[in-house]
Amino acid sequence: SSTRCSVIIVGAGVSGISAAKVLAENGVNDLVILEASDRIGGRIRKEDFGGLSVELGAGWIVGVGGKESNPVWELANKSSLRTCFSDYSNARYNIYDQSGKIIPSGLAAASYSKAVDSAIQRLRNQEAKLRGLSTITEPPSIPKTPIELAIDFILHDFEMPEAEPISTYTDFGEREFLVADERGYELLLYKLAEDFLLTSDGKIVDSRLKLNKVVRELHHSRNGVILTTEDGSIFEANYVILSVSVGVLQSDLISFRPPLPKWKTEAITKCDVIVYTKIFLKFPYKFWPCGPGTEFFIYAHERRGYYTFWQHMENAYPGSNILVVTLTNGESKRVEAQTDEETLKEAMGVLRDMFGPDVPDAIEILVPRWWNNRFQRGSYSNYSLLANQPDFADMKAPVGPIFFTGEHTSEKYSGYVHGAYLSGIDTANALLEEMKNEKEGDKESSLES
Ligand code: FAD
Repeated sequence: SSTRCSVIIVGAGVSGISAAKVLAENGVNDLVILEASDRIGGRIRKEDFGGLSVELGAGWIVGVGGKESNPVWELANKSSLRTCFSDYSNARYNIYDQSGKIIPSGLAAASYSKAVDSAIQRLRNQEAKLRGLSTITEPPSIPKTPIELAIDFILHDFEMPEAEPISTYTDFGEREFLVADERGYELLLYKLAEDFLLTSDGKIVDSRLKLNKVVRELHHSRNGVILTTEDGSIFEANYVILSVSVGVLQSDLISFRPPLPKWKTEAITKCDVIVYTKIFLKFPYKFWPCGPGTEFFIYAHERRGYYTFWQHMENAYPGSNILVVTLTNGESKRVEAQTDEETLKEAMGVLRDMFGPDVPDAIEILVPRWWNNRFQRGSYSNYSLLANQPDFADMKAPVGPIFFTGEHTSEKYSGYVHGAYLSGIDTANALLEEMKNEKEGDKESSLES
C-alpha cells in the first residue's frame, strides 16, 4: 500500500525543516517528511560526552554583528540558546612545536602574514586563469616548515577555504559564537518544528514526520514522484524536496528513475565535499593553560594537518576538562578508518609533545565519522573559486517534480547552518510558485475545453 500526499520532503536537517515550515505556513499541510536516521537535525547533532552534551556537527553560529542580521542568530536569541563568543585569531600566538616550545610571537606573526600573502597570490593567479589572462605574476610560496604547514592548514582547512570575499562575513558580520547549551544547537530545529508539527513534552509526535525511512528509489514523471524506502514502504506525491547532502547525491544511496539529466549529475560531481572532524577528549584534570587568549592552540608538525588545531572547552563549560582537536579531509578519513584506541594513542603522543610526558591519559574519546556515515558522506560542500554561476544554478534547479535544497544549494552561504536554513525557505518558495502556476495552468486548460 502507498500513501499519496502533496509534497514529500526527504531529510529532516535544517533545510528540510525550514522548507516544510514555509510550505505549512502557506497552507500546504499535506506533506510528509522522510528522515533516514532516528532523529531530526542531520548535521546538527549533539551527543552526550563526559557529562555534557557536545556538538559533533555544527558548533558555531558564524556571521554575527554585521549590517544584516543572521537569521540563525535571531532564532538563537528567540530561544535563549546559550552561546559563547569565540575568537580564534589568538590561536596563532599559541603555536607549539614538537618539543613543546611556544613559537615566539614575532616569528608566528611573520609566518602568518607570509601564508596570508601567498594565499592572496594563489587567489589572484586562479582569478587570472579564470579570466584567461596570462599575467600570472609570481608563483605563491609553498609552505614547508611545520609552522608554515600549520598556518596553511588553519587558513585553508579550518577557516573557510578559497572563495573571497566570504558573504557570510560581509553580510552578517565577522563574529562567531560557540553554541554551549545542554539542549544543543538542535534546540533551534525543535523551535522551528514546533510551529507546524504536533509536539508533546518537547518531542515531535506528528505522524507526518517519519524517522528511520531511508529513501532508496525515486521514480519521477510528469505525474509526480514515487519513493521507495529501504523497509519497502512506498510514498507518492506531486512533488519532492530533496535535502540530502551533496555527498549523498554523489553516492548511490538513491537511484533515480529515469536517471538525473547530465547537467545535474555534472553539477553534483563537480562539487567538492569537505570532511571536518571534531575529536573530543575528556581528562581527569586540566594540564593546559586556561587564561584569556588560550582557548585555541596549534600543534606544528611536519605532516600537514596532523592534530593541528586544538580547543579547550573551559570557556564554554568551566571544569569540564575536555579538549577538542579538529582534523579535516585526508586526516579525517585516515582516522575514521582506524580504531578509536589508535586515534587516542596518536592524540596522546601529540599532547605529550606539547605539554610533557606527565600528561594524564584521556578517560574518554569521541570520534565522529561523517565520511563513513552513508546519510552524510562528508561534512559540507566547498565550491572552489573556479565554480562559477551556472554550477550553483544547476545544483539548485529542479528536475521535473524534484526540487533540491540544502546547504550546497545556497549560492552565498554554502557550508553553513544559515545557508541550509535560507536554502530551505528559497526552495519552498520556488515550489509554491510552481504549484501556483500549475493550478492556473489547470484552470486555463479546463476553460479551454
Ligand atoms: P543535513 O543536515 O545533512 O540534512 C539532510 C538530512 O537528510 C539528514 O538528516 C540525513 O540523515 C537525511 N538523509 C540523507 N539521505 C537520506 C535518504 N536517502 N532518505 C532519507 N533521509 C536521508 N555550519 C555552521 O554554520 N557552523 C559550524 O560551526 C559548522 N560546523 C560544522 C561541523 C561539522 C563537523 C559538520 C558536519 C558541519 C558543520 N557545519 C557548520 C555545516 C552545517 O552543519 C550544515 O551546513 C547544515 O547543518 C546542513 O543542513 P542540511 O539541511 O543542508 O543537511
